[in-house]
This record gives sequence, structure tokens and C-alpha cells, in this order.
Amino acid sequence: MAGVTLSKITKTYGEVRAVDAVSLHIRNGELLALLGPSGCGKTTTLRMIAGFVTPTEGQIRFGEQEVTYVPVHQRHVGMVFQGYALFPHLSVEKNIAFGLRVQGWDTARKEKKVADMLRWVQLEAMAERMPRALSGGQQQRVALARAMAIEPAVLLLDEPFSALDAKLRTQMRSEIRELQKEAAITSVFVTHDQEEAMAIADRIGVMNQGRLEQLGSAEDLYQRPASRFVATFIGKCNLLEGRVAAEGRFELQNGQACGFATAPAGELRAMCFRPEHARLEHSSPTSGNALKATVRTVTYLGAQTEYELRTAADERLLVSVASDAARHAVQVGDERYVCWDPAQCVLVA
Ligand code: ATP
Repeated sequence: MAGVTLSKITKTYGEVRAVDAVSLHIRNGELLALLGPSGCGKTTTLRMIAGFVTPTEGQIRFGEQEVTYVPVHQRHVGMVFQGYALFPHLSVEKNIAFGLRVQGWDTARKEKKVADMLRWVQLEAMAERMPRALSGGQQQRVALARAMAIEPAVLLLDEPFSALDAKLRTQMRSEIRELQKEAAITSVFVTHDQEEAMAIADRIGVMNQGRLEQLGSAEDLYQRPASRFVATFIGKCNLLEGRVAAEGRFELQNGQACGFATAPAGELRAMCFRPEHARLEHSSPTSGNALKATVRTVTYLGAQTEYELRTAADERLLVSVASDAARHAVQVGDERYVCWDPAQCVLVA
């Protein structure tokens, strides 16, 4: 199969455009995360790929085959939901065998598949156990084995770790990642947690208000955000309003000019740079960008210390420095120049 293609899929509920003309291609064997705040349309997109929701407009293809109106049971997708949704009255092996029974696999083939899946998720010793006698992480692995047993064309994961504690989440994250790579199955993973998306996915599609804002690797999104929303949603970001006054010259609202190296086309109204790409100086440097501001808070975060500053125009700026880089002399109320390099900022609309 050559991946999954969504062409301008839209889903409306009355006035609400839950998903608005989303087009993207999920490559064969890739794990793609759909990331965005609550209500941005990621679950609806996943449900359209699964076949639970029919698009109002647009087209979905699995490889060359159009599946837009193909019912769920004929799409051959494996699903792992929030809270696992295991059958509580069936043992681990019967849970895994469930889909195979529905599909009418013969006994010998079914038994071999269940044994393979138990080995794959390392739960051979727990085949007879009931779900209630398993830990959250073990239940999640059963859910994954059950989804994968049917040899699905596509694996869909909807916030699969939301019921797990922080430590187990991190562990399950890398387990699922390894298992997904091993099986080389085209997968879509829905999450509102950017760290999770960055840790697990080959590429991330950031959604906002039903639209796909940007699609790219974690590095693309962080280093080269294509919109104001992506810049502020992925990590922390300083955002200064203004306008492009000339080539390579961005004028802030106070009239001060700042340099930038590259910029996309279109009307650009904000300059963004990351807190770790900024530094604090006593005086304005001879080259690069600088803005005078007053330190409002100093927060020690272990490896990093974060300074929050305000400019005379009440713009909020964050500067993050390595805690052992001897900047401790900076106190609340001090005036400093926040300095950043034109090569390390991006402009957005
Ligand atoms: P969350 O992270 O909270 O699950 P989400 O990004 O997955 O959010 P969706 O569940 O896809 O968002 O919902 C997108 C929008 O569509 C929301 O405004 C939601 O209220 C609306 N919506 C979703 N399903 C329905 C429905 N069956 N009827 C009416 N509106 C719906």
C-alpha cells in the first residue's frame, strides 16, 4: 500500500466546520501525529480515516483505492483508543483473537497469529489473564496487539496514553514507536501533547480550528514555524508585532528596525524568536537585534534559568539561558538589552 491520502476533506456539523479542507499524504510506513488544541478537529479527521464519520466533502484514499464511502469494517483499519476499550469479560488472548474470529480465520492460523502477537508485545505469560488483572501499560499493549492482529492496512491511535501516568506514558511511547517501526505500518496518532508528538512521530500535522496549519518534522515546526499559531503552540516563542519596511528590515511598533535573514512570501506582521536564541546584555550590541526591557521574573528551572522581561511598549520577552552560565547577577527590576541574531528569527503573518 502506498500510504493514505486526504484530499480537501471537510466535515461540517451545522454551522461548525469541524474539519476544513484538509489535504495531506501519510507516507507508507510512516507514523504521523495530528497535533492541536481541544476542538481543532483532529479526532474527527482520524474518524474519517477510520470510516466512523463520512466527510461532507473531499476524498480519502488508501494507496490507489478510494475509501471515502467504504464502511468501517471493509477498510481494514486497526484502532487503539483512549482508555484501551478491551473487552472486560475476555482474557488477553481472546481479546487479541476477537477481530480474527469476526473475520473468520481458521483455528490454526488464528492460534499462530495470537501467539505471534503475544510474543510481539511480550505478554506470553499473561495470555490467560483477564484485563482487570493487568497494569495500565499491559492493557495498552493488549489493545495494540488486538489492533495489529488483523494485519490492518492502517493503524489509528487516538490519545492512546491519556489514561497512563507520566512515567508509563514515556515508556509506552517508546515501546509503541519501536513496535510501529518493526511492523512498518502506516499510522496516524492523535494527541494534544506536543512533547508526545515530537517524541513519537516521523512528521507532525498541526491543526487549528479545523485547518491543517503546517505539516513537517518536529525540527521543521520548531525552527521554521509557518504561522503565528504554530510558533506559539510548539514550544515557547517571543513574538514582536511590526511590519516589513524594506528587504531584510522589520520595523517594530516603536519604529525600531530589526534585521532578519529569510522570510516567506506574503504580508508578515510578527517577528518570532525562541527564548534560548536570545541573550541578555548590559549595553546594545554593535550588530544583531536588541530591545531594551526590564526583568520582571527570574525562574530557575534546573538546567535552564528563564527570564521574563517587559519592554517600554509592554511587549513580553522570554530569555532562557543555561543555569550554570553565570548570569545569576540578573535581578528582578534590572534593565537589560534582549539580543538576538537575525539568522535565528522567523517572520509570520
Ligand atoms: P479533543 O482533543 O477535545 O478531542 P479534537 O481536536 O479531537 O478535540 P474534534 O473532536 O474533532 O476535536 O471536534 C472538532 C469540532 O467539531 C469541535 O468544535 C466539536 O465540538 C465539533 N464536533 C465534533 N463531533 C461533533 C458532532 N458529532 N456533532 C457536532 N459537533 C461535533
